[in-house]
Amino acid sequence: VRIVELASEAVPFAKTGGLADVTSALSRDLAARGHRVSLFLPLYREIRRAGVEIGPTGVRVRVPATGGGWEAEIRRAVHSDSGVDVYFVDVPSLFDREGLYGDAGGDHPDNAARFACFTRAALEAARRLGDGIDVVHCHDWQSALAPLFLGSGDAPKTVLTLHNLAYQGVFPREVVARAGVPAELAWSADCDSHGQVGFLCAGIRRADRLTTVSPTYAREILTPQYGFGLEGVISARPDTVIGILNGIDTSLWDPAADPYLPATYSRDDLSGKALCKRTLQAEFGLAATPELPVFGQVSRLVEQKGLALIEELGDELGELPAQFVFLGSGEHRFEAIVRELAERLPNVSARITFDERLAHLVEAGADFFLMPSRFEPCGLNQMISQRYGTVPLVHAVGGLADSVVHASEANLAIGMATGIAFRGFDASALRWALRFALELYERPAVLTGVRKAGMRADWSWEASGRRYERLFQALLETEREAIDAE
Ligand code: ADP
Repeated sequence: VRIVELASEAVPFAKTGGLADVTSALSRDLAARGHRVSLFLPLYREIRRAGVEIGPTGVRVRVPATGGGWEAEIRRAVHSDSGVDVYFVDVPSLFDREGLYGDAGGDHPDNAARFACFTRAALEAARRLGDGIDVVHCHDWQSALAPLFLGSGDAPKTVLTLHNLAYQGVFPREVVARAGVPAELAWSADCDSHGQVGFLCAGIRRADRLTTVSPTYAREILTPQYGFGLEGVISARPDTVIGILNGIDTSLWDPAADPYLPATYSRDDLSGKALCKRTLQAEFGLAATPELPVFGQVSRLVEQKGLALIEELGDELGELPAQFVFLGSGEHRFEAIVRELAERLPNVSARITFDERLAHLVEAGADFFLMPSRFEPCGLNQMISQRYGTVPLVHAVGGLADSVVHASEANLAIGMATGIAFRGFDASALRWALRFALELYERPAVLTGVRKAGMRADWSWEASGRRYERLFQALLETEREAIDAE
């Protein structure tokens, strides 16, 4: 299958969250299965700065818009050991600046233009560069307009993957028009609310297939509680949303061969984990107390990640026989919550930054990994932490519900338990879960069993990649069947 992946982030080039892990690992998995995969990204400043070797393709694309438009130079990554052809859409006036989507002052005001231009230029470039396209795979609002730009007829099939409905790319209608989205791609009434139109909404209506990143989230987004206003548009489609749980890159996230760790370890020999914990405590300025459990959280500091519950518990955290480390960056309000807790409480420490090495250290050095997310389409950290023998403590929603087996006595008895899952998004439920963790910590043999059950689980892309592959093949089959029927 000739596949074009349109992504606003992908490791190792540009990342703000799990989307970057997913687009990259999925592309590589599909290429390894023998498919032809081209991955397109905007050429952000941070990609230039990271020293990625970039070469020319000789392709220039003009994207028209009211009052001028843009010239996009299409470049490519010189080194690709993964079998994926990585291309960059280079429009310095749109992408050569700080921040993928925004900076300290908030979202970039021209995001509609930036990502409409990226999507259009990438599609045109993909047409000219390759030997045909079977499937265009879009991710989130940033490339959700691809099905509209492609139109119908003999256009490639389109799949839109919903990674997080909280981000919909909603802009005033005139801004969208100025961004070069032609009027004939007219927005439906469903996607136009008080003069504001949503890129994601438009894509949901037009894509040939919709997928999302866990089976539970696929059901949740049909409800007002989790649909963020799009539940009606999604439910109105003739097909159902396919939930495919993400995998993780098991070579990047491997406690037995992780270059960021002071000591490596495995399921058969967990001893190196103790040094990771000591190093974590030291790096975060916490007392070196092996007897106290460490709870770690690595996340974008935004409402979704359950920081309101952490805030509500507040000084109670200081009374628990435990230590807490927070690594994250995001919105000021949520950064302030963890920063202030860390200033007030000696057993809480926070680093407000994005730091790959520290993320690995928290995964390895903590005893429990906190993910009290209000909602979580899939979540990667609960899988990563299981792989690192660090027991996830999660709110049982979305992908968290699909990937963590609660340590009830029944699940413990059959060796299935991999974490702690609470129901109901409130502070008392989180309090219950923290106490549950502390009690588990007092039962070392049982805790080791839970750690090992998590380490045994297979979170590789093997199963997920196969499901995307089947989906793409099935789409082409239906196409062929339709042609045959004519
Ligand atoms: P989301 O996609 O909502 O951000 P996920 O759990 O799916 O959440 O993925 C988060 C990814 O981003 C993980 O790989 C995590 O380690 C990484 N990450 C988040 N915040 C940071 C940070 N401050 N420093 C380093 N890595 C981070």
